[in-house]
Amino acid sequence: MGIGEPAHPDVAEVLISAERIQARVKELAAEIARDAAGQDLHLVVVLRGGVILAADLVRELPPPVSMDFIAISSYGSETRSSGVVRIVKDLEDTVEGRYVVVVEDIVDTGLTLNYLTNLLRDRGVAALEVCALLDKPTARRVPAEVRYVGFTVPEAFVVGYGLDYKQRYRGLPFVGTLRPEVQESPAPPGVPPRL
Ligand code: 5GP
Repeated sequence: MGIGEPAHPDVAEVLISAERIQARVKELAAEIARDAAGQDLHLVVVLRGGVILAADLVRELPPPVSMDFIAISSYGSETRSSGVVRIVKDLEDTVEGRYVVVVEDIVDTGLTLNYLTNLLRDRGVAALEVCALLDKPTARRVPAEVRYVGFTVPEAFVVGYGLDYKQRYRGLPFVGTLRPEVQESPAPPGVPPRL
């Protein structure tokens, strides 16, 4: 992207550039690797938003790292979680006795993470840490301990680098806000409810 060029026609503002994200992800991976030294590191990736961060992280972590995926649905509108969550796709592997790092796109109200960390503790993890690309601490409704935070963002609805609006924009390499007219337009036909 050249100077002065729009990032994408639907984007109002780029909050965090692709370059800053890439540099920060390398730092996060280094911190995780240092803290997990000598442990059997297992990433629990929260679908779908955590996938992009996990894909970049895992390539910076020592090769024995393993990863598994869980999908949790929160009932609510496209831009607000209601606090009611359920598992849509469960993990394949056991987490019992393992050193687990949860990989999330964003911690907003904290409700999803709260549900997930309780679940993983109930399943007997040996150690549990959380890595989130973004943290919106002012939106918190329940406490959430996030050890590895990429960036702290204000209370705006953001997309990109895993974060969607109606399942779109996850592939943008930066994090930004959408133009209001884009958010108001109806979903294209066949777009399923968000995960
Ligand atoms: P929670 O409110 O439970 O902490 O966040 C749950 C989920 O809501 C996040 O994993 C993310 O998928 C979604 N979410 C929260 N804030 C935003 C946002 O600003 N943009 C997008 N695209 N999703 C968000």
